[in-house]
Amino acid sequence: MAVQTVAGTTQSAASPSPGSADPHEDATGDKSFGPAAALSCRECGTRFPLSPVFACQECFGPLEVAYDLPLGDPEGLRRRIEAGPANIWRYAPLLPVPAGVAERPNLNPGWTKLVRADNLARELGVTGGLHIKDDSGNPTHSFKDRVVAIALEAARAFGLTTLSCSSTGNLAGAVGAAAARAGLRSCVFIPADLEAPKVVMAAVYGGELVAIEGTYDDVNRFCSELIGDPVGEGWGFVNVNLRPYYGEGSKTLAYEIAEQLGWRLPDNLVVPIASGSQLTKIDKGLKELIALGLVADKPYRIYGAQAEGCSPVSAAFKAGHDVVRPVKPDTIAKSLAIGNPADGPYVLDIARRTGGAVEDVTDEQIVAAIRLLARTEGIFAETAGGVTVGVLRKLIESGQLDPAEETVVLNTGDGLKTLDAVAGTGPTATIRPTLAAFREAGLA
Ligand SMILES: [Zn+2]
Repeated sequence: MAVQTVAGTTQSAASPSPGSADPHEDATGDKSFGPAAALSCRECGTRFPLSPVFACQECFGPLEVAYDLPLGDPEGLRRRIEAGPANIWRYAPLLPVPAGVAERPNLNPGWTKLVRADNLARELGVTGGLHIKDDSGNPTHSFKDRVVAIALEAARAFGLTTLSCSSTGNLAGAVGAAAARAGLRSCVFIPADLEAPKVVMAAVYGGELVAIEGTYDDVNRFCSELIGDPVGEGWGFVNVNLRPYYGEGSKTLAYEIAEQLGWRLPDNLVVPIASGSQLTKIDKGLKELIALGLVADKPYRIYGAQAEGCSPVSAAFKAGHDVVRPVKPDTIAKSLAIGNPADGPYVLDIARRTGGAVEDVTDEQIVAAIRLLARTEGIFAETAGGVTVGVLRKLIESGQLDPAEETVVLNTGDGLKTLDAVAGTGPTATIRPTLAAFREAGLA
């Protein structure tokens, strides 16, 4: 079987950079990381052994996982995946996890529904096919279970005993739950002003929850300090020192969408932007599928979706800039409220390279889109889902997305976590339990 390394946007024969370790040799000397071969800098391409680091020692660029993927037998690989469990571990041959990962205590996230949204399509004038990838069906009701599951395996491989994160809410719950199931300690950090259901979910699994007086960006800075301090020794911050592994979990969204469409790619994907990591890894996953021969090579466009109250990437896209100017978030879409998105420049590059766009919607449009999706498809999305559906509508109305093409829209979380967004929704009438009262209310 031919073996080729696929790292980020480039494909090349496996060749260690000067002075670096053999990429086939991981930090632990065993197969704890499956097909993962090394960490690779997204800026300068320097390779490093697999370890709990996230920045390049040469240029401080972000590191990502590079693989020796099983190229050359797409039919065999497809059969192997299809025979796998109905969760993200069916894609274990393409993830930085050991064989047998599905047998270890974890939350087994993924294989969420891809819902054919014909009612919504009619409402929006989409004729080419519209699907909602509904990730609210994950164990803690957001897509974060995917990324945490991969980070948990990295924490185990590196012998880290405390699982931690900086979070806008969903991630804190996902980390707390995963750590509880795996028997690890957890200590998670959130901004103090989060939605009540997310705070409860972050706390209920029994780990430590620390609310920080400040924005998510303040929380993130604090966590970076903690990692550099002896206090943080033995800690796996899933989205800081384990970030290269964590990010890989988002690739499974791309894999599932393609497999659920019958092993083919849609024309357009509408993806929410918080840090931008999810969008960049979905692009990475789609490219891997093409490189592996699991889907036919065809163009696809990736559209990024932000809330107007936190739209630094959208603003840069519209202005034609390559750099993203940080903002102070002010939006009901708190799960997307990252004012200084780490992957912003990569998102701009992907949106432009694929012929997509980055767009934003107001809080009012977010709420209207939550209601629209619920009314048409029976899917109650959190505010981030309101952002993607609202942006889809705006992209169609402005002619940026062709409604005659096939589109997949992501809903990354559950509406029960952001009930305040639809406050005022309630009974049509409150009546005495009599037929007369029902008639009086004008409902008979
Ligand atoms: Zn570098």
